[in-house]
Amino acid sequence: MRAIAKTSAGPGLEMIEAPVPQPGLNDVLIRVKRTSICGTDAHIYNWDTWAQETIKPPLIIGHEFVGEVVEVGSNVQGFVPGDLVDGEGHIVCGRCRNCLAGRRHLCQATKGVGVNRNGAFADYLCIPATNAVLVDPSIPLDVLSCFDPLGNATHTALQWDLVGEDVLITGAGPIGCMATAIARKSGARNIVVTDVNDDRLALALRMGATATVNVARETVADAQKQLRMKEGFDIGLEMSGNPAALRDMIDNMTHGGRIALLGIMPGAAAIDWNKVVFNMLTLRGIYGREMYETWYKMTALIQSGLDISPVITHRLPCTDFEEGFELMRSGRSGKIVLDWEN
Ligand code: NAD
Ligand code: ZN
Repeated sequence: MRAIAKTSAGPGLEMIEAPVPQPGLNDVLIRVKRTSICGTDAHIYNWDTWAQETIKPPLIIGHEFVGEVVEVGSNVQGFVPGDLVDGEGHIVCGRCRNCLAGRRHLCQATKGVGVNRNGAFADYLCIPATNAVLVDPSIPLDVLSCFDPLGNATHTALQWDLVGEDVLITGAGPIGCMATAIARKSGARNIVVTDVNDDRLALALRMGATATVNVARETVADAQKQLRMKEGFDIGLEMSGNPAALRDMIDNMTHGGRIALLGIMPGAAAIDWNKVVFNMLTLRGIYGREMYETWYKMTALIQSGLDISPVITHRLPCTDFEEGFELMRSGRSGKIVLDWEN
């Protein structure tokens, strides 16, 4: 089968010929139809410090996909060949206290598909059946291939009730833009989105932002004045991974405001803790998606009209993956979907 792999320690990726994986007793074998490229895949391509410390080549990469079950292990119930499935890319131990309590996103032994074991950028993928998620076949395949990052956006945006709240979203990447649409659909009042990239801010407007702020030339405080907001944001969704954006957010929250942090900061990021203390802010880190409540909720959101398709800016045959990674680097793309059916 074809597979996009990191074959040796260093930058770049290769399309290789690899054996089709054999499903174990509890696994499903999936014929991959579409995949989408994640920032994590770009880190692996670029071979940055995180990738050097984490990735053990040879490794087939990728974890955002949709495909069809073609074989099931003898222990597997609930899936049959022909089922259309997505996959939860976090494989958890199932035995620790958090797993047993149903808090599987908090398992300390989590292994990542396409990070710690072979991934989805291939004609076939083998994962435990407990990680496969049956999907609604009426949802377009391209959208289904983005359910993993849509899950990050959903998990973060739905941490608190958004009805009537003023929401600040820092970072209009694909996840920030999807969170914008979710916040709009969930009844938020004002949604202000920040970035330094005008193309991405234009997309955020399309996804339902009330106003956007290019922090390279405008301030969040100015946007608040224009919207006649007097007391600051109720909810903050940090989706840039930039410490300056987090500081900006903390400066513009109402007293008692709540911040969910999804963006991955470059190590230790300094903030003014006294603003957190005196303004009684809540800061909550967010990891992955809830298994499987987030999958349930995002499916229902899409079924009730949430449209994330504008975030998908490029569709390429899988053989043109180099072009996809080039587009990622240019910063002029949203989600890039690779087609494995041609
Ligand atoms: P992305 O890199 O495409 O988007 C980040 C955006 O932030 C970019 O558009 C960038 O221009 C913008 N930005 C940079 N500096 C800024 C600033 N000072 N103020 C406002 N915006 C600024 O990433 P994405 O795929 O949309 O993911 C969003 C973040 O979530 C990333 O940091 C990613 O690593 C992280 N992430 C975390 C998890 C998790 O489980 N915690 C899962 C997936 C992604
Ligand atoms: Zn566990």
